[in-house]
Amino acid sequence: NQVLKQSGPAGSRPGAGVQVRKLGLIGGMSWASTVLYYEAINKGVSRGKGGLVSAPLLIESHDFGPIAELQSAGDWDALAETMAASVKRLETAGAEGLIIASNTMHKVYDRAAGETQLPMIHIGDITAEKLARDGVKRAGLIGTRFTMSEPFYRERIEAHGIEVAVPDAAMAREIDRIIFEELTRGNVSRVSQRTLKTCLTMMAQARMQAVILGCTELVMLVDPGANVLPVYDTTALHSQAAVDWILAEDD
Ligand code: GLU
Repeated sequence: NQVLKQSGPAGSRPGAGVQVRKLGLIGGMSWASTVLYYEAINKGVSRGKGGLVSAPLLIESHDFGPIAELQSAGDWDALAETMAASVKRLETAGAEGLIIASNTMHKVYDRAAGETQLPMIHIGDITAEKLARDGVKRAGLIGTRFTMSEPFYRERIEAHGIEVAVPDAAMAREIDRIIFEELTRGNVSRVSQRTLKTCLTMMAQARMQAVILGCTELVMLVDPGANVLPVYDTTALHSQAAVDWILAEDD
């Protein structure tokens, strides 16, 4: 094409020659954490490439209301179908790799991943790998009641030889309530910030070496840089893994 050939040497326009992979993100679970992913992934890609570069993304943002109802009703078959449908839509739309932007929804990860040949990044695996690299042997886990009380998440962490502990029943109930009644609606309160502080202090006293924010909204309440324990924020870790994948060269 003559016109394009005459338009100047390669590299003369911003971003020319920049090749990055397109990520599909299954989000809206909730929107309050999807926005954190969106920002972190774009900032990471921009930092990695330099110049005027941002991340090519396909985001399917679900209405969290019906998702939370299905979780409460224990209808994980319907949720697996919902995730599988998202996987297919994003693949058809041109995604080259996928992430599910919720720890809880990884309960149906295997069924969603079974729908596609595309690479998917498991939030629990990348968190466990980081904990293991850092030499953590005992970690506290906080998240929704599903993530804290069921094996699907903790067994991914334990598979790396890491012992996982969850808060006592009363604290676990309160953290779950905070997630569904406040954070997933975009609300942050002082009282809940204090509750999380108390929870982390209890985990430090129980000789945990680190705490996993195993819910993608929890970082809204906890400052990972200023705490009694090292904090592993799954939103940041998952976003960084996505950035690394986006920027990796194809073979
Ligand atoms: N975003 C949350 C998580 O990481 C909770 C929302 C949900 O139940 O999917 O688990």
